[in-house]
Amino acid sequence: MNEKSYDVVVIGSGAGGGTVAEGLGPLARAGYRILVVEQGARLKEEEFTGKEAEMADALYEDGGGFLTADGAMTLAFGRAWGGSTVVYTGTSLIAPKRVIETWRVPGLTHADVEARSKRFMDENGVHLLPEELLNDNNRLFVEGCAKAGFKAEQFPLNLRGCKGSSLCNLGCPNLAKQGTHRVQLPAAARDGVESLTRADALRLEERRVMVLGRGPDGLACVRLGQKEPEGGCYENGNDERDGPGQGKRELNGRFFPDIG
Ligand SMILES: Cc1cc2nc3c(=O)[nH]c(=O)nc-3n(C[C@H](O)[C@H](O)[C@H](O)COP(=O)(O)OP(=O)(O)OC[C@H]3O[C@@H](n4cnc5c(N)ncnc54)[C@H](O)[C@@H]3O)c2cc1C
Ligand code: SF4
Repeated sequence: MNEKSYDVVVIGSGAGGGTVAEGLGPLARAGYRILVVEQGARLKEEEFTGKEAEMADALYEDGGGFLTADGAMTLAFGRAWGGSTVVYTGTSLIAPKRVIETWRVPGLTHADVEARSKRFMDENGVHLLPEELLNDNNRLFVEGCAKAGFKAEQFPLNLRGCKGSSLCNLGCPNLAKQGTHRVQLPAAARDGVESLTRADALRLEERRVMVLGRGPDGLACVRLGQKEPEGGCYENGNDERDGPGQGKRELNGRFFPDIG
């Protein structure tokens, strides 16, 4: 069995994990070993093609058609370096006070959430689109609302250099959408936070995370026992940018970082 030690392991690299990873940057700079474990793949910039079939497979869990246990409905959520922030629409709002209050988290105030949200809104380029980028559909909608007596406002979006191609839910081929894959994770990496992609955190044990992974990460792997999925040590293909469609659960190795 191959083991590698880290001081902190962050599981998932989306809105939550990606921002935590960035927040841990100063610790990484101070010499702590920090790892982000992500089930999905890390795509190269040119691999964001905007093509529906390949992007759905590369960026979503079960291609965006994850079925609930009772088979009653499908759910769409991201599975990539950047999590759902790679595929989300970009609407960036601050949770209202009434929502934060219903959470009843001890010590968490709305003012605190607002201050933190504003920081990320700045960091991720959240803004209202200029008038000239609004299309006719939206202009007509606003006009119609006004005539019907409703006030319609724009959602602020986290974009830089948007070209209006409307492929946001397919990962934005123009690299305009500012998810954690564009902002927080690269910042974390600059500070020395490592990422292990195409790696599935299976179980948390005391001071240990059991990870099933695949790829050329230089990490050790273990032959799997009878109750485990078939397969042996992996040979290649992890971390760095590892291509679309590579995140599927064809996993056949294990990696055990220690958490201190
Ligand atoms: C199509 C779509 C559009 C959306 N549009 C908006 C929007 O416009 N505005 C808005 O505010 N929100 C939007 N959302 C919701 C928003 O993206 C999510 O609420 C947010 O990303 C959740 O953050 P998270 O960190 O909890 O999960 P995610 O961002 O989904 O990240 C979780 C990550 O963890 C990884 N992971 C899970 N389990 C494991 C494991 N065991 N081991 C390793 N890795 C694991 C997953 O692969 C994934 O990459 C949208 C979501 C989708 C899917
Ligand atoms: S360029 Fe703008 S509209 Fe087009 S996919 Fe990217 S964020 Fe969405």
